[in-house]
Amino acid sequence: MTPRIGLVAALALGCAGGERAAPVSVSAPVSVSVSVSAPVSAPVSVSAPAPVPAPAPVSVLIEVTELPADDAWLVTWHVAAPTIGIVFDRRLPSNRHETWRPGDGLAWGMAGDHEALRAIDGRPRHDFAVRFATDDRSAGRAPALNVRFTDGSRLLFTAQVGAAALACDAGEDGGRCERRDRDRSRRWRFHTAPARGLRIPDAAGRGELTWDEPAGDVRGTYLYAGPIEAIEGDRLTIVVDPGLPAWLVSETARRLPALFAFHAAHTGVALEVEPLLLASRAEPAARGDALRGKTLPGLIQLEAVGRAWDHPSASRRARWFEVLAHESFHLWNSQLARRSGDKRDEWLSEGAAVYVAGLALRDAGLLGARAHEARVVAAANDCIATLDGPLYSEAADASYYACGELVHFVIDRQLAATGGVLGAWAAIIAGARARGSYATADLLAVVDERGGDPALGRDLRRILDDGLGPDPAGLVQRLLRDAGLATRRIAGTRRLARRR
Ligand SMILES: [Zn+2]
Repeated sequence: MTPRIGLVAALALGCAGGERAAPVSVSAPVSVSVSVSAPVSAPVSVSAPAPVPAPAPVSVLIEVTELPADDAWLVTWHVAAPTIGIVFDRRLPSNRHETWRPGDGLAWGMAGDHEALRAIDGRPRHDFAVRFATDDRSAGRAPALNVRFTDGSRLLFTAQVGAAALACDAGEDGGRCERRDRDRSRRWRFHTAPARGLRIPDAAGRGELTWDEPAGDVRGTYLYAGPIEAIEGDRLTIVVDPGLPAWLVSETARRLPALFAFHAAHTGVALEVEPLLLASRAEPAARGDALRGKTLPGLIQLEAVGRAWDHPSASRRARWFEVLAHESFHLWNSQLARRSGDKRDEWLSEGAAVYVAGLALRDAGLLGARAHEARVVAAANDCIATLDGPLYSEAADASYYACGELVHFVIDRQLAATGGVLGAWAAIIAGARARGSYATADLLAVVDERGGDPALGRDLRRILDDGLGPDPAGLVQRLLRDAGLATRRIAGTRRLARRR
């Protein structure tokens, strides 16, 4: 029996590849919203933060305090040199101002297209503070600000909290503003109840934990806060929600090391760190069996959503495997090698993760050769149905997975003599590690170099720059045929079916 796989696009999988801090140098009229300064009963007071001078060269000291009894968080940013505001690293989701309550004398505004917290009186200060309730809403494919475990443990996505000093010169509307010290290091101090555990990749503590964030790297991490003892597994550390069914825990511990070996063997690069896996159960009483996953540096975060996960089945086993394969490949193509900061390159990192997950399913015996081709045809049909215009475009976001999988399949078949698409990825990863990052142009260069038939490079550029053209099904059918996968048109539709 063939499990129905290929649900990736519907699962809000993994795409935390990360937003880079974009330059902010736009005049920033402050649209003052609200500045409620209600009293805060908490270990750290928002209304009167203790001035803690940050030692050079740390440009910002970020104090994060979990308030488990209130299911809320306090954050204070101490900047080394007084400033009139701070600007947040991540542009999206730009919903902080909806629920984060600024401390005394502060108001929300914008600096370019990034949210900013500014002193209402316009006078430079060292300290900025907010308070917010745990917020596990999903906003697009960005990692949720918080994740809830069934036992009261919580995760916090630090990149949504990361901010830098805002430097503005005098002038109308607050003058021109820009991020200061963008590439300088930041120190984080995490606090919670004394007996409660805190953990990030490579560090753990009780009650308190300090993290020196790598300078200039704003991808962030998930902070774990809660009572769960981590399990030291084979090549990974696991923090498991007690509400996660035992069969998923054992599948994870068994499958992930094998997947690490699979990815390492095919890309020629071994994992340098022992990753942290944070696995939780969401909505255990709700119907269904959804899945969520994210990858951050040295970290995979997974959630099994719904009560159906209580019952093992071949299809759920395959879907769990698929999310493990997809997210773990992001440790290679988003962490060991970094994608460019251009969102348009996301089709490439996501397409690779989806396609490699299919290869890993085959390798593990969870997907047969014919079922794999059927999966590719399903992706091709999704691509035909959703792509309207160039694939290399932010507007094509909804097609990144399906069209990315299709493109990877075609390249894999066409480059079979030179290592297939994973051989191409080995070259892309090696180049990115030498130069700093990779982009779509690097894939095209490898295809041109190894492709043999120049038509392949032309077809790929056409899809990236223009889309599927006036006859999308015709173009996709030809691409699949040239890749050795024969299909027929389903009469009266734009869909294809695999020829028997
Ligand atoms: Zn992904």
